[in-house]
Amino acid sequence: MIPSILPTYNRAPLSFERGEGAWLIEADGRRFLDLGAGIAVNALGHAHPALIAALEAQAGKLWHVSNLYRIPEQQRLADQLVGATFADTVFFTNSGTESCELAVKMARKYWYEKGAPERTEIVTFSGSFHGRSSAGIAAAGSEKMVKGFAPILPGFVHVDWADHDGLKAAIGEQTAAILIEPVQGEGGIRPLPDQCLQGLRKLCDEHGILLILDEVQSGMGRTGKLFAHEWAGVTPDIMMVAKGIGGGFPLGAVLATERAAAGMTAGTHGSTYGGNPLACAVGSAVMDQMLADDFLPEVRRKAGLLRQKLEGLVATHAGVFEEVRGQGLMLGLKCRAANTDVVQAGYDHEVITVPAADNVVRLLPPLILSDEEITEAVRRLDRAATHVALSK
Ligand SMILES: *Cc1c(COP(=O)(O)O)cnc(C)c1O
Repeated sequence: MIPSILPTYNRAPLSFERGEGAWLIEADGRRFLDLGAGIAVNALGHAHPALIAALEAQAGKLWHVSNLYRIPEQQRLADQLVGATFADTVFFTNSGTESCELAVKMARKYWYEKGAPERTEIVTFSGSFHGRSSAGIAAAGSEKMVKGFAPILPGFVHVDWADHDGLKAAIGEQTAAILIEPVQGEGGIRPLPDQCLQGLRKLCDEHGILLILDEVQSGMGRTGKLFAHEWAGVTPDIMMVAKGIGGGFPLGAVLATERAAAGMTAGTHGSTYGGNPLACAVGSAVMDQMLADDFLPEVRRKAGLLRQKLEGLVATHAGVFEEVRGQGLMLGLKCRAANTDVVQAGYDHEVITVPAADNVVRLLPPLILSDEEITEAVRRLDRAATHVALSK
């Protein structure tokens, strides 16, 4: 008999009742150190007082009005995002994959309005993840994502990660844009080197095509900058955001330059919920925290501390781990043992991590975790790794 919840997820037998900062707590009081943050969503941890205050204040006033009307909370958040990034304009969605839908539509509409409607192709990369909508799975293109769901949305050209010649060959008269994650998340925490992102920007400029960055996972302070592309000193034309931006409230966004967004006039796109007052009040509170002077420097300092300890962990458990990779607090432990065994052993030792492709264990802790919690997290990972090594 089919379960009452559609069985599309492989769930761990864990169930949490509440959260406090970097901790998740089961009903029986068992406390887990959360290095997953709901897959990079709870950027400010669980039950952050500023987010609770923003949500409660808005909940007593107005939840939803639709985009038929002006929404001051949405305006405030858009102004914050425009003020802090390359972008001139923002559209709010409810998820990463909805941001992907708009990014693709916007790029195609840009060319349509420019009198080149044949430019519809988006170049994407192996190992990428852009969500589960029809455009999202077509963009990723992996068999795992698309099998059984034909016909797949056309207009995506897939290039192997790091295949420079393949990339050059993929660009032609029909290319509209290149779409890439600055740090692949689901693909196994694979950072794009700065010079590659700079090279992509240059390639786009040479061909006049658009650069779309998917910062759904790498954005919102995760790598120690507000957005990961800032490390390379280049900017995209269009950027997808979600996950951390709502701090746990469903919220996403597409940020764009005025030029890239030129085709998106009244009536060309919309969303009933997108940018509703509740979501934007919380998103604005998240931005307030992240834009505070000491927030991102602290993320970078803690990331250095965690990284250093993880290098030690890998050295101690060379039979279990191969290397640490990633940037900021978006880190991956490439495993020699099965990554799923490491994640399971973590559960047994009360530390939460997230598996990814390429046999990687992802560490995406809340950005607010303390130095003591970093020490404790690595202590628990050390015990988990010892357990994995012994049971091999
Ligand atoms: C999670 C993720 C998405 C999809 O986001 P949803 O909110 O699950 O639709 C898209 N791109 C990247 C890089 C992601 O990590």
